[in-house]
Amino acid sequence: MGKPVIATASLAGCFGCHMSLLDIDERILKLVELVEFNKSPIDDIKEFTKPVDIGLIEGGCCNSENVHVLRDFRKNCKVLVSVGECAIMGGLPALRNGIPLKECLEEAYLNSPTIAPEDRLIPNDEDLPIILDKVYPCHEIVKIDAFLPGCPPSADLIWEALTALIEGRPLHLTYDLVKFD
Ligand code: SF4
Repeated sequence: MGKPVIATASLAGCFGCHMSLLDIDERILKLVELVEFNKSPIDDIKEFTKPVDIGLIEGGCCNSENVHVLRDFRKNCKVLVSVGECAIMGGLPALRNGIPLKECLEEAYLNSPTIAPEDRLIPNDEDLPIILDKVYPCHEIVKIDAFLPGCPPSADLIWEALTALIEGRPLHLTYDLVKFD
């Protein structure tokens, strides 16, 4: 039997959760022995090339591209994990959820004092992903199988969760592993 296959993606996130994954330090050598990475910014594989056992999602969904990537992960991954507060509940990007989208865009692109008058334009190229009315946590778009809290989740928590999923153990996220700030 081959190694379990892992894929990762960053949607509306800051890559801090990916950094925390890399923060497992020398255990990354063990991880490379245990698993094979597929689609991920870590190895720069852009498309799925085989079925994936564990998909790790950082960030929620703020635009149509995020939704497309998330649905593609759900289709290709046996187990899908929301990693970090942005994936679990929208996180910092969701601070805009209480403000109408039109107002957010006008503030960012028309009214901001840092924009030169000749540059005041709300981007409207048809190739740009469509911005959603609000930022959605991943479980409101697709079924999510596990949640790793934290901003970011600690490297130890990610290691514990990953090894449990790889070995088929139940997730046992003890109090000392979980932090929310
Ligand atoms: S949960 Fe925190 S570290 Fe992770 S993507 Fe969101 S803001 Fe960044």
